[in-house]
Amino acid sequence: MKENNLGQKCEYTDDCTVFNSKEETNGTPVYIYRNVFCNRGYKGWKNCEQYIEYKLNTIPKDQRMMSENKMIDLNNVTQDEREILLLLERTGKCLYGNIFKELNISSTKGAELILSLASKGYIINEGKTSFYQLNGDLI
Ligand code: SF4
Repeated sequence: MKENNLGQKCEYTDDCTVFNSKEETNGTPVYIYRNVFCNRGYKGWKNCEQYIEYKLNTIPKDQRMMSENKMIDLNNVTQDEREILLLLERTGKCLYGNIFKELNISSTKGAELILSLASKGYIINEGKTSFYQLNGDLI
């Protein structure tokens, strides 16, 4: 994901219920959301959980389904991805933002790693929550 798109509007503004709301969201006025997240390029979008959810929903459904017998080969992932997988194995599940805190990685890098692992079907989020868990057994 390019970082040089500061000021670019999020691709989901047409559909996004947060962006199009006339009400406050979680007590925050909509214009704050727009200034902090929506109109800030990837630096803003990556901090928006709604954005991550939209991105994850572009991943084919069969990859997002809980898998019973899936093996996740730690040799087929990067070192950073491996650390997230090992964290999720240790904790069982972890909140999106806590993954970054636990591993001391930036939210930009963390968002990319989580999207990468989810697009490979290695991790899934629990229902519509921001909790992530392994989608198979590590080998
Ligand atoms: S950044 Fe988040 S709140 Fe703003 S339009 Fe995109 S998904 Fe919606």
